Amino acid sequence: MDKSVEFTVPERCYIDGAWVDSTSGDRFESIDPATEETLASVPKLGAAETHRAIEAAEKAFVDWRARPATERARLLRRFGELMGEHKEGLAHLLTREQGKPLSEARGEVDYAQSFLLWFAEEGLRLYGDVIPSHRKDARLLVLKQPVGVCGLITPWNFPYAMITRKLGAALAAGCTAVVKPAEQTPLCGLALARLAEEAGLPRGTVNVVTGEAKAIGKALMESESVRKVSFTGSTETGKLLIAQSAATVKKLSLELGGHAPFIVCADADIDAAVEGAMASKFRNSGQTCVCANRFYIHESLYDVFAEKFAAAVASLKVGNGLDAETHIGPLIDTAAVEKSQRHVEDARNKGATILSGKEHASLGRHFFPPTLLGDATDSMQIMYEETFGPVAPLLRFREEEEVAKLANDTPYGLAAYFYGRDIGRVLRLAEALDYGIVSVNSGVFSSERAPFGGVKHSGYGREGARVGIEEYANIKYVLLGGIAT
Ligand code: ADP
Repeated sequence: MDKSVEFTVPERCYIDGAWVDSTSGDRFESIDPATEETLASVPKLGAAETHRAIEAAEKAFVDWRARPATERARLLRRFGELMGEHKEGLAHLLTREQGKPLSEARGEVDYAQSFLLWFAEEGLRLYGDVIPSHRKDARLLVLKQPVGVCGLITPWNFPYAMITRKLGAALAAGCTAVVKPAEQTPLCGLALARLAEEAGLPRGTVNVVTGEAKAIGKALMESESVRKVSFTGSTETGKLLIAQSAATVKKLSLELGGHAPFIVCADADIDAAVEGAMASKFRNSGQTCVCANRFYIHESLYDVFAEKFAAAVASLKVGNGLDAETHIGPLIDTAAVEKSQRHVEDARNKGATILSGKEHASLGRHFFPPTLLGDATDSMQIMYEETFGPVAPLLRFREEEEVAKLANDTPYGLAAYFYGRDIGRVLRLAEALDYGIVSVNSGVFSSERAPFGGVKHSGYGREGARVGIEEYANIKYVLLGGIAT
């Protein structure tokens, strides 16, 4: 490994400002999904260590919430700057642990950093209100106060950004946190702990625990001290957390699964739509919760779109993400490969044609060829299950009302895309699509300054933007009476 791009991560967890092992001594391995080599091993923590992390966060909260917002902002900004200073090292670590191409990994480091810098600023603007009073002897104030200790549970597909999007907002609001990174990407989580420490964040404000998801999750959910949990992951786990939150009446933010429709209207710019389709479908090898999962193409341009899309898909190079030529890295594990395989086979059995999807030379068990399916139908699994892989099914449609109905016919509601120029239709569709995010004439939309989140089974709460910090604040109404002379 080239030393200049190496970022050393302590192979221990970070609790109360100290790097610690599990009490049992148990560990688990982080695997490079491209080569299946072991990168490192990290502690396998359980409930006992999680309780210690919660206690540390609780103690740290007393001081952290009392600090001036400007001081919290300064430390958060420093945390963000350090991400920039270590960008190459962080990007290489991300590619090795998660598999995404290096160019995308660099993009994720920037994106992750943007949340720390953004919330450093937003923390300075967590304004309350003074309400015109209905009484002569009283004044009415509204304060926004930190909710307390937060549990932040994150997935492996954006192992930096999903943490900073939560942690930046939590810290800026005056909360402290126990972060649980996904078991596939513990090193990225611990890398952020190292930077938090280097930035000078006080001990206990940020704790990172790796290990048994169920035990750690249960400890966080059962704790009265943890007042909020923010989770990004599967709808199944999200529903479990909702149930577990009842006993302590915990505040939740949930960003769950998606099944994004991608609609190309009759008057769309076809080349732009193909470019957007590529960006939406194949980023991170199709492993994002906002990846287009089904493509509805107006019948008048279906053939041209399919031909151009197939050519673009055929030009994608699959390989190790560290190779500068690679567009599509490995999938995270064999289960992910099997799911893509199952979706393609089911579609073929039900009459889909393969428009693009050449078998690659044997790269390893985790690689799957980007595949374009023509003549898909609603009965195919891929049309209602989230694929989380590089497979794109195309369908024809005729009427606007019909396509809006088809697009909304899913329990999910995270992101939807469409291409078209007619201003009336653009507005009608943007309003009709039952999703938290609608991207018009663009295959990418994520930004730290825009609200990210879904409706229906895709969860609730919003991250990023001005509203992101509000999720970590309680509103308190203070009536100041007895002040009339
Ligand atoms: P994915 O399919 O993306 O792996 P998961 O919902 O399984 O989705 O995982 C997302 C995050 O939730 C990971 O950090 C994982 O370890 C964690 N997780 C999984 N099961 C539980 C659970 N029962 N309680 C708390 N966290 C969990």
